[in-house]
Amino acid sequence: MKALVYFGPRDVRVVEMPDAKIEQSTDVLVKITTTNICGSDLHMYEGRTDMESGKILGHENMGRVVEVGKAVAQIKVGDMVCLPFNIGCGHCQNCESGLTGFCLTLNPGFAGAAYGFAGMGPFSGGQAEYLRVPHGDFNCLKLPEDAIEKENDYVMLSDIFPTGYHATELAGVKPGDSVVIYGAGPVGLMAAHSASIKGASKIMVVDNHPDRLKLAEEFGAIPIDFSKGSAVEQVLELTNGKGADKGCECVGYQCCDKHGKEHSNITMNELVQAVKATGSIGVVGVFVPKDPKSKEELQKEGHMDFDFGQFWMKGQRIATGQANVKAYNRQLSTLISVGKARPSLIVSHELSLDEAPNAYKHFDARDKGWTKVLLKPEM
Ligand code: NAD
Ligand code: ZN
Repeated sequence: MKALVYFGPRDVRVVEMPDAKIEQSTDVLVKITTTNICGSDLHMYEGRTDMESGKILGHENMGRVVEVGKAVAQIKVGDMVCLPFNIGCGHCQNCESGLTGFCLTLNPGFAGAAYGFAGMGPFSGGQAEYLRVPHGDFNCLKLPEDAIEKENDYVMLSDIFPTGYHATELAGVKPGDSVVIYGAGPVGLMAAHSASIKGASKIMVVDNHPDRLKLAEEFGAIPIDFSKGSAVEQVLELTNGKGADKGCECVGYQCCDKHGKEHSNITMNELVQAVKATGSIGVVGVFVPKDPKSKEELQKEGHMDFDFGQFWMKGQRIATGQANVKAYNRQLSTLISVGKARPSLIVSHELSLDEAPNAYKHFDARDKGWTKVLLKPEM
């Protein structure tokens, strides 16, 4: 089968790989119809992880079931399914509590398992023609009748829509709250969409890319361009000097365009200033150092200069972590189905798998208009 394979920093190629197949009786085999490029893929793409050469990328996957293992009871051949990026065993203490991002069986001792990721188990990604789904009954979300018609919406259930929603859950967003969201990438935009769905009274989205801020506006948010003055001051002005009730971090560790060098602590420290005293901050951005020179440097993952003093004085709370995608999927899927959620608004490109290397280049450079790329292997 054709697949997009990682060979080294900024070196991904579409090559022939052995066909994905059923390996365990609980597996499901899916023919991929849509697979997205995610900001999280860039941690591997840019060489910030110890991703091994030869691994297929891709954790935002959707497709048609073409084969099921003998022990699969619920999922049937022909079903259209979306695949949460976290893979759970379904039976451990965490999976049973809905914390499928932290399955204790498939990748014990770390942060759960996922498709096509560094450090999250041996599982191949879905930027390919076929994908093997372990524990298929648990890890497939069977989609309703309108799955094909609304494919570009439903595929967002694999990661960024529930992740944006998770950011608002971690921050405890309630109806009437004002919310500041750092990052107008796909995740930040989905956090804005989620805050709006939850009934937030004012949503402010911080970024410096006009095209992305324009999309934030389409989701009902006030755009805040940090290249045009202090984002914190703009938020304070919009909240009568008080600060936003809740904050979401949807940027993670990356080079900041404004300063031209790494400033991984900017968003966290600004959130402490832009959120009111006793407010809460939900952090879904991933903090992986840029260009680590050694294994030791990689292990310092996420160390930062954080203003704990001000955070403590303001009596704020922070919650973090991967989205437990499965926990939100049923409800978010229903919202798409009835037309109350439209995550596909952010889609900028629908391309064939062959065009993936070029798409990575543009998305990585955050080139104008490259907001969210969907790859269609059947194209
Ligand atoms: P992205 O890189 O496309 O978007 C990040 C945005 O942040 C960009 O638009 C960039 O311009 C903006 N930005 C950079 N510096 C900023 C600053 N100082 N202030 C405000 N904005 C700034 O990525 P994405 O796909 O939206 O993902 C965002 C983060 O979420 C990544 O770290 C990704 O790994 C993470 N993520 C986490 C989960 C999870 O389960 N927790 C799931 C998916 C993605
Ligand atoms: Zn993703």
